This record gives sequence, C-alpha cells and structure tokens, in this order.
Amino acid sequence: MSVENIHVAIRIRPMSESEDQVSRCAVCVPTAQPTVVVQASDGQIKSFTYDHCFSSLEVSNDQGTQEKVYSEIGADLVTSALEGYNCCLFAYGQTGAGKSHTMMGYGDQPGVIPRAVEDLFEQKARVARDGDELRVWASFVEIYNETLRDLLEPSSLVKDQQSTLRIMDHPALGVIIPGLVEAACQTALEVRKLIKFGLKKRVTSATIMNNTSSRSHAVFILKVQRLPRGERSEALNARMNLVDLAGSERHKHMDSQGATFKEGCAINQSLSALALVIKELGEQQARSFNRQRTRTFSGPLSLGPANGSPVPESNKEAVPFRASKLTFLLRDSLAGNSRSRMVAAISPAAINVDETISTLRFASSVKQVKTNASVNVDQKTGVVQHLQAEVRRLKALLAAR
Ligand code: ADP
Repeated sequence: MSVENIHVAIRIRPMSESEDQVSRCAVCVPTAQPTVVVQASDGQIKSFTYDHCFSSLEVSNDQGTQEKVYSEIGADLVTSALEGYNCCLFAYGQTGAGKSHTMMGYGDQPGVIPRAVEDLFEQKARVARDGDELRVWASFVEIYNETLRDLLEPSSLVKDQQSTLRIMDHPALGVIIPGLVEAACQTALEVRKLIKFGLKKRVTSATIMNNTSSRSHAVFILKVQRLPRGERSEALNARMNLVDLAGSERHKHMDSQGATFKEGCAINQSLSALALVIKELGEQQARSFNRQRTRTFSGPLSLGPANGSPVPESNKEAVPFRASKLTFLLRDSLAGNSRSRMVAAISPAAINVDETISTLRFASSVKQVKTNASVNVDQKTGVVQHLQAEVRRLKALLAAR
C-alpha cells in the first residue's frame, strides 16, 4: 500500500494569435521545485510550486510538448495500471486554457489519452511475451447539468437524452456505474474508434442541447485486467479514470438567463463540490497528521498510519462526495485506492490573470491531498484462469495418449 499526494502539474499554453497585443502574466521557472510566477492585476508577484510545470516558451523547447507531458505524467499511470493500481488523471482550468489539448489532443498532436492507449497496447505485447494476458475495456461518460450520459451507448440520441446513468457505491467494488457500456478492446485502433464515436456523440448532443462540450465533464475509463498464464494464480485489476473537466471560469462570465444559467449553476455546483471535497480532504488529513505528531510526543501511543494518511473509511461520509455526480464518480480517485494526478491548464495572457490565479490556488489545495493506492489482486479470476489452463493441459495429455 502506498500513501502519496496527488501529483500536480501546471501547463501554460502558448499565447494565442488573438492575444498578440496582450502582455504575459505567467511564467514557469525551472528551479529544483517547479515554480509558476504570476503577476496579479494589482501588480503583486505571486509564486506557486508544484510537482511539474510545462511551458514551451521560457524553458528549452521540448518542455511543453505533448511527448514531454505524457512522459512525465501519463506513462507511469500506464505502468501502475499494469501493476494493478487504479489511477486517475484530471485536467482542470478555464475554457481555452488547454485541457482538451492535454487530455485528448488535436490533429497530429495526440494528448495523454491516445498516447496512454498506444502505450497500453504496446505493453500488452510485452506482457504476452512474459506469458500473461492483458484484457482492456473502454468506457466513456459525460456529466452535463448533473446528468450522467454514456458516450459509447449506440442508441439514438433522442432515447439517450432520457436514459441517463446512475452512480452507485458497491461494498466490494467501490464506485460503479451499473449499465455502463464497457467495450472489450483487442487493439489500440479499436479504442481509437470508440473515442472517435464518443467524441462525435458528445459534440452532436451538445449541439442538440445548445451546449458546448467545454460545459460538460468527460470521463474516459480504461479497465485493465492482467491474467496470469504461468505459476502465479492471482489476476491484477486496475481502472484508469482520465478526466477532462468543464471550464472552471466563474459564474459572472455566464449569461444569467435560461438554460445557460442552469448550466452555469450545474457546472459551478460540481466544480464547487470538487473544491469543497478537496478542502475537506486536505483539512482532515492535516488534522490526522497533527494527531499523530501529538501522539509521537506523548510516547507509546505513537503507533499509527503514515503521516497525514488519507481519510479513514469511517470518516469518508463526512466528506461531501455525494454533493455532485462528479465528486461521487471521482470519490475513489480523490480519497481512496488510486494513484492520482492533476494537470491545471492556464493561459499566460494578462487578461486571464484572475482565472489563472484561481486555478493555481485550486491546484495548490489539490497538492495537499493524499490517496492510498494498493494493488487490486483478484484471486478468484486468477484461480479460475489457472484451473482452466490446467484442464487444457490435461486434456491435451489425454488426447496425446
Ligand atoms: P480547453 O479544453 O481548456 O477549453 P483547448 O485544449 O481546447 O482548451 O485549447 C484551446 C486552444 O488552444 C486549442 O486550439 C488548442 O489547440 C490550443 N492549445 C492549448 N494548449 C496548447 C498547447 N500547450 N500548445 C499548443 N496549443 C495549445
């Protein structure tokens, strides 16, 4: 079991063409502890430190590339999934800051999700050479106005608008979505086709609902199962949640009429719920750290979990995960059995400085949160696999007689 903080990366996008005449307000300083320095609208200089900082402007040219981002924050999630750890990467930031560019990518610049898929299937071949089998299932959901929709469900959109999914808490499996399409995939090409299908459905339904996809949260899920072929009898299971959140810009930017207003409330509700959950988790973990320190000073009672360990099961209900679909869906990624990462995408332009500082503050609070990752060993599936292999071996022996 490993207790670790959620790793936080900041990605500063380049200035856009329309920002040509605008001054810059945010830079990345490549010190030992990656730092982002921002000049606020009142002229004050603020600095924030994180685990990673990506920007193609001030550092050497490869610092902000899609390859660099994947190699620093994506590749080890695939490795972890193959070892049986659940993992999560979520992108946060205002609309236009680079979340989709980072997660999905555009054109010839694939983002973390397509790169992770390629990587996973390359690893599948390697795992097969070791005698193990890797099984992969893909799911793709969208949360819009507190409604969860299946982006891989092939039914007509009209029907689909009515048939929404529920999130449930399973005593053994944790957070699950009953009825969600989990498409078994043999190749990276199959997954790419599913992603294309899901993205198209997201855009089409967004048009029908007079929405833009930047107003919904998209969650791409890969379930990975590693089955033993040799002497080992346990299978390893992992789930990767790859999340492109809706734009985090504040409410005052929204049109306060009709549907847009409702939408604004729902997006705000889920992102506010996310901020509250992060705050509560950070505070609970800090309290648990302080209690352990007090015990350490008072002698023999000092035995206990690692410093500032994640929130114990019994306290989890006190954290308002159920306040929104987003936080309920991400509960295990934020406070449970998961290796989690966040990319906060920011704009370098001075006109966006208030949103940029708000994103950086949120990113700093996420950095305080710890999760508790452990390997998901599935004895039953592994034993069944093992016995099936043994039956095949014995049948072959009999046939050879
Ligand atoms: P968001 O998903 O946060 O709303 P996008 O990812 O769609 O924003 O980015 C907005 C625009 O900026 C897109 O045209 C995208 O290609 C471009 N962009 C964002 N980040 C980068 C980056 N790091 N390098 C190059 N272009 C970027």
